[in-house]
Amino acid sequence: MSSRARVIVMNSALGPLDYRVPHGMAVEPGSIVVAPLGPRQLLGVVWEEDRLKSEHVGDNRLRNLLGVADVPPIPAPLRRLVEWTADYYLSPLAAVLRMTMPSSSALEGQKLVVEYRATGAVPPRMTPQREQALERIGDRQGLVRELATIAGVSDAVIRGLVKTGAIEGVEVDLDSPFPEPDPDHAPPELSTDQAYAAGILQGAVAAGAFEPFLLDGVTGSGKTEVYLEGVAEAIRRGEQSLILLPEIALTEPFLKRFTARFGVEPVAWHSGLRQSQRRRAWRQIASGQAKVTVGARSALFLPYKKLGMIVVDEAHETSFKQEDGVHYHARDVAVMRGRFEGCPVVLASATPAIETRAQVEAGRYRELKLPGRYGPAQMPAIEAIDLLAEPPERGRWIAPKLVTAIDATLARGEQVLLFLNRRGYAPLTLCRTCGHRFQCPNCTAWMVEHRLINRLSCHHCGHAIPTPRLCPECKEEESLVACGPGVERIADEVAALWPEAKTAIVTSDTIWSPAKAAEFVARMEAGAIDIVVGTQLVTKGYHFPNLTLVGVIDADLGLEGGDLRAAERTFQQIMQVAGRAGRGTKPGHVLIQTHAPGARVMEALVSGDAEAFYAAETESRRDADAPPFGRFAAIIVSSEDKGEADTAARMIARAVPEVEGMAVFGPAPAPLAMLRGRHRFRLLVHAARSLDVQDVIRDWLGGLEWSAKVRVAVDVDPYNF
Ligand code: ADP
Ligand code: ZN
Repeated sequence: MSSRARVIVMNSALGPLDYRVPHGMAVEPGSIVVAPLGPRQLLGVVWEEDRLKSEHVGDNRLRNLLGVADVPPIPAPLRRLVEWTADYYLSPLAAVLRMTMPSSSALEGQKLVVEYRATGAVPPRMTPQREQALERIGDRQGLVRELATIAGVSDAVIRGLVKTGAIEGVEVDLDSPFPEPDPDHAPPELSTDQAYAAGILQGAVAAGAFEPFLLDGVTGSGKTEVYLEGVAEAIRRGEQSLILLPEIALTEPFLKRFTARFGVEPVAWHSGLRQSQRRRAWRQIASGQAKVTVGARSALFLPYKKLGMIVVDEAHETSFKQEDGVHYHARDVAVMRGRFEGCPVVLASATPAIETRAQVEAGRYRELKLPGRYGPAQMPAIEAIDLLAEPPERGRWIAPKLVTAIDATLARGEQVLLFLNRRGYAPLTLCRTCGHRFQCPNCTAWMVEHRLINRLSCHHCGHAIPTPRLCPECKEEESLVACGPGVERIADEVAALWPEAKTAIVTSDTIWSPAKAAEFVARMEAGAIDIVVGTQLVTKGYHFPNLTLVGVIDADLGLEGGDLRAAERTFQQIMQVAGRAGRGTKPGHVLIQTHAPGARVMEALVSGDAEAFYAAETESRRDADAPPFGRFAAIIVSSEDKGEADTAARMIARAVPEVEGMAVFGPAPAPLAMLRGRHRFRLLVHAARSLDVQDVIRDWLGGLEWSAKVRVAVDVDPYNF
C-alpha cells in the first residue's frame, strides 16, 4: 500500500492534486514539497485531505513527490488563514499560499550562502561596464545575480570583477539567529491612561486567546508605548509578535524607538530586503527564533511558529488594502489571523475607519482610549482659511493669513510643515495656443510635471517623457503652461517668499529608502530644515518637537470625486497631518486652506468634534446602505482591447443571477477607465450583510467564459464605492 498526499501546487492554476509519497519520505499537512507537474518541478504544500477536494486519480496513475523541504511545515493556523483568504477574496488557494513563501531558494537545505561586495580595489583593466558596475554597487552586498541587476550588467561582468579582486565573497549564515529583544531593557514610565491600556493588553497576551482591540488615541498620545508593552509580554512568554506598518518609510523611526525600548532591532520584512536577508528572516520566523517582526502588509502571511500578539499601526491607512493580485485588506486579514492563532490583535489609530468603529459599537472589538497627548503636549488649535474670502495673491497658493503665520513661526525659530498631497510641480500641462493637454498614453490620467528632473510622468504606470519645449500639436514654442500646484511649485513659492529659510521637499520622489528617511529625520532634529513641503508621506509617524505650524494648502483635494468615503478620508488625512504640530512643549497651530469652510468635515476639523462627525458620516452610510451596513464587491473586467473588455463586461452583466438582497450596477467605465494600457469596466455588486455574496459571485462567474485576453478580477470590500 502506498500513501497519498493532497497537494496545493504553487504557480499552477489547477486545484489540489494528489501524489504518491514514496517509501522513506515523511510528509504531514503543511509540509513543503517538490511536486512534478507535466515536465516541471514545482513547490507545493501538503494539505489535509478532508478539507479539499481533488479529482480522483487511481493509485496506479499517481506521480511520486520528488522531495520535502528541510523547513518546518506551514502551521495549521496559517493553513486555515490561507483557506479563509482564498474563500473570502475569491482567489486561488495557490495564489494566497504563494504569499507565505519568500522564494523557492529559501527552502533549499543550504545554510551558508556566499554574497559579494566591492573591496575598493581598482581592477587592473577598467572597462566602462566595470566602472558602471562598481559605481552602482557602491557599498551594497548581495548574490551575483542581485548585484548584476543593481548594476545593470550581466552576471559575467560581476564574476569577472570577482576574479580581479575588486569584488569579494563573504559567507552569510542563513541560520544565524537574530539577537533577542530584552523585554526589560528600558521600560517606559507610563501615564495613567497608558498604564491602564497596557495592563489590559498584557492580560490579553497572557490569556493567549483571540481578542480584537481598537487602540484609539489622539496623535501623540503614546499608542506605540502602549502596544509595545503587549509585545514585551509576548517576548517574556517566548512568543512572537507581528507589527504591521503602512509604509516602509515609517519603519526607520519605528526601528529607533523599538531599539530604545528593547535594546535590539526587530526583524524587518519589506520589499527592500536582499534575497539572503529574506531567506534568513523567513527561516527564523518559521523556526520561532525571530521574536518580533515589523513589516509591510506582506509580513502578514509569514509562517510564524507561535504568535502571541498582532499589531496593525495606523490601521485606518489605505495602503493596507492590496489592489492587485489577491485583493485583500491586511487590517481585516490580521484580525482573522488573530482568530486562527488565538492571540490578541490591536488596531491602533487616531482616526479609525468607520468600519472599525462600527465593530466597537457592535461589541465585537474592545476599545482602549488614550484621550490626551502624552506629557505636557496639547492638541494643536485648528483654524480654517476661507480661500474665497481671503485668497492668495494672483499666481500664488499660500493665502496671506498662512504667510503671516509662517513669518511668526520662523521668527520664533520653529519649524513649519506645508502639506499638499500632490507630487511634482504641476498636475497638468496644457498649451495656451491650441488647448492640447498632456495625457498618459496608457492611463486615464494627466502627465504630471516634475521640474526637479525635467520630466512629465504618469503616476499610475510610470510612463515619462522629457518636458517638451514646444507643443506637439500646434508646434508653438513658449506656449505650454503648468496648471495647478504640486509640492515642487509650493517649494518655489516658499523660496521666493522666504529666501533665507531652509526648505525640504518630502515625497516618495525624495524619500525613497529607509536611509533617506533617516537622513530627513536627522536634518529635522538638527534644525537644518525650517520649512517642509510634503505629501502624505510626512503626515504619519514622525515626531518633531520643534514643528509648531502645519499649513494645509488644499484641504478640498480629497473631496474631489465625491465618493462616500471622501469626507472620512479627508478627515483622517488632515487630522494626521495636524497631528504633527506641537508635539513637544510648544503649542501647535494648524491652518487649513479651503473653498468649503462650511462643509461638515471642515467644521468637524475646526471644532475637533470627531464624535459628531463620525456619527453623521455613519448615518450617511446607513442611508446608502453602504459599509459597514451593506457591502460591496467590484468586478473589474479589463483588456488591452476595449471592445473585448466591453463585450465581456456586458456578458457578465446579462448573466447576473436574481438573488434577494443583491443588486448590480454597471458595467460602467471603472474609476481609472484605462490603466497601464488596459481598458477597464466595472460592475459594482451591492449586497446585504446577511448574503454570502462570495458564493453568489463564484457561481455566477464560474459558469461564464471570456476571451483569453480579458482579465476579470473581483475586489471584495473595495475601497472606492
Ligand atoms: P502616537 O503614536 O499615539 O501618535 P507616539 O507613540 O508617537 O504617539 O508618542 C508621542 C511621543 O510621546 C513620542 O515621542 C513618544 O516617545 C512619547 N511618549 C509617549 N509615551 C511615553 C512614555 N510613557 N514615556 C516617555 N515618552 C513617551
Ligand atoms: Zn500611465
